[in-house]
Amino acid sequence: MGSPRQIDPYAELRHALVTHLRHRGIRDEQVLAAMERLPRELFVHPAFIHRAYEDVALPLGYNQTISQPYTVAFMTSLLEVQPGDKVLEIGTGSGYQAALLAVMGARVYTVERQWELYQRARQLFARLGLPVQTRFGDGSLGWSEHAPYDGIIVTAAAPHIPKPLKEQLAISGRLVIPVGGPQSQILVRLRRVSEQEYDYEEFGEFRFVPLIGKEGWSETLETRPTSSSS
Ligand code: SAM
Repeated sequence: MGSPRQIDPYAELRHALVTHLRHRGIRDEQVLAAMERLPRELFVHPAFIHRAYEDVALPLGYNQTISQPYTVAFMTSLLEVQPGDKVLEIGTGSGYQAALLAVMGARVYTVERQWELYQRARQLFARLGLPVQTRFGDGSLGWSEHAPYDGIIVTAAAPHIPKPLKEQLAISGRLVIPVGGPQSQILVRLRRVSEQEYDYEEFGEFRFVPLIGKEGWSETLETRPTSSSS
């Protein structure tokens, strides 16, 4: 991610974004420190590079978005990641969320169903030297081969909490997922307290692009405009 000696033209903007996130109530220092290190300008679509450090979701192409920095920071805080935790992300998109988790020291697995985004994110992980494991496919079913996970984060809107994701959580693992209709969702955190029991918490309204798949929405939902989504 570049040596400290090199001049980084985005460092000030990155710092200003982190200060802004602090003012918006993000308290997790591990998340803020990772955001201060990660070059978001590499993850946004080149046409939006001048807006890389605005606190907004930006179009990635293919009807998809890179989530708003506040949303990324808030969801990542809810995951309560410790270095060495095994974390599964559903919806790789630009790769920014997965990269952030890797910078925080998590062992990251991420699944994407859109081929071009999947390829682009893989190249970026390699370029940044981040050991993120990637999979092309329907993430609404999770990634059972590597389960159980200490954390699962779903960065697309689900109509319900997918049963396979609940089952792939470790005991005391956290699942963070937006659940609701296509227009708006409630951010939910499930904590697995035993083989059969989960604690359920809600964290307000958000708006994501749809999770498309067996445990998500059908493909016909994907064609709606998405530029304002998280
Ligand atoms: N986490 C991403 C980032 O950091 O840029 C943003 C994700 S974007 C809001 C949602 C992503 O979920 C899209 O790239 C979309 O293709 C993907 N997606 C939707 N349904 C999926 C599924 N069933 N499995 C895997 N990815 C899915």
